[in-house]
Amino acid sequence: MALIVQKYGGTSVGNPERIKNVAKRVAKWHAQGHKLVVVVSAMSGETNRLITLAKEVQAQPDPRELDVVISTGEQVTIGLLSMALMDLGIKARSYTGAQVRILTDSAFTKARIQRIDEESMRRDLDEGCVVVVAGFQGVDDVGNITTLGRGGSDTTGVALAAALKADECQIYTDVDGVYTTDPRIVPEARKLDTITFEEMLELASLGSKVLQIRSVEFAGKYKVRLRVLSSFQDEGEGTLITFEDDIKMEQPIISGIAASRDEAKFTVVGVPDRPGIAYQILGPVAEANIDVDMIIQNVGSDGLTDFSFTAPRGSFDRTKEILTSVCKHIGARDIRADRSMAKVSVVGVGMRSHVGIASRMFRTLAEEGINIQMISTSEIKISVAIEEKYLELAVRVLHKAFDLDVVQG
Ligand code: ADP
Ligand code: ASP
Ligand code: MG
Repeated sequence: MALIVQKYGGTSVGNPERIKNVAKRVAKWHAQGHKLVVVVSAMSGETNRLITLAKEVQAQPDPRELDVVISTGEQVTIGLLSMALMDLGIKARSYTGAQVRILTDSAFTKARIQRIDEESMRRDLDEGCVVVVAGFQGVDDVGNITTLGRGGSDTTGVALAAALKADECQIYTDVDGVYTTDPRIVPEARKLDTITFEEMLELASLGSKVLQIRSVEFAGKYKVRLRVLSSFQDEGEGTLITFEDDIKMEQPIISGIAASRDEAKFTVVGVPDRPGIAYQILGPVAEANIDVDMIIQNVGSDGLTDFSFTAPRGSFDRTKEILTSVCKHIGARDIRADRSMAKVSVVGVGMRSHVGIASRMFRTLAEEGINIQMISTSEIKISVAIEEKYLELAVRVLHKAFDLDVVQG
């Protein structure tokens, strides 16, 4: 008998019929004698609807109140799923984040989990009850409702699995596992039976929304056995996230391609080239809590330099505002800002032992006339910033160039 945490995403609980199907799947595991904690998202589209609603009332919603509003979607689905389970003759009890006491910091809309009280859940489990927990939400130490960032139910699932020392955390979604790239962009993408934790961490941080990045971080920190599966298929082992690099004798060089369209690029033009300038430009950006990603500083011959970086598109206006004041302060010539950028990355642990990956990537993009504007690398990934309109094309040609559509021996 195992303790299993299952998380069902928005599409999987998108209507009453689907919620009943989730209940049937949970019932099957329950009938096998397993203890089950089930985390659910809001019905698909609901969180977006709530955000739009909030913005109709207040153009820039107050973060505390926004969390009060957008956390409600999950409260609906935990109640409905518990009812569906009861209808199948199974004891079930729903919990909001605050009822479990998923304690977070007070960073509204992007809170971090600090502690989870597991006693009540354990009591229920010992009584044969299925515990149904609202994903995406927590509570801070003074009782404010918080949310964990978009896609945060994955993190609730893995964090509960870590706290309860569950045997496995199963993430049920609308695809049957982690693919070589987003199957919506490349229909020839292949499902991976396993992927290393490191690769999954890179893919998630570079835009593959199949798992929220923080859920993968949690899995790594607490060594949670994590599996991605389809909630629409009965068969299949999904994709297991592994912690050993040597799981296969012959690793493919590249395991996957990630893409993100939420990028913006900023260039401060004609910056005096002197010590401390990078800090003067990026310091105020960091203070505003804006995540800077790729950075390039060119060396000029005339004592002036251009300084470029990428940041999330959602922070475009704020970043531009900050740079305008920085520009004056440091005596730079101008600012250029482009909100329609995308980032495409190839990821694979095999890169450590193979050369020529970057050149193959750059040649492939050049052959399609795609201009690379920025590059960043780590030991197991290469990312490029390109114009957003080329995102799909870039992913497709790279997928082919690295033979990801071919079944590996
Ligand atoms: P859920 O609502 O279940 O949390 P998400 O929409 O957040 O589901 O994540 C699943 C989606 O992630 C898939 O429908 C797919 O389009 C997308 N995706 C992006 N990259 C990948 C990938 N490498 N493998 C599988 N799915 C991916
Ligand atoms: N409902 C939240 C969202 O849409 C959390 C989640 O689905 O994981 O972002
Ligand atoms: Mg998700």
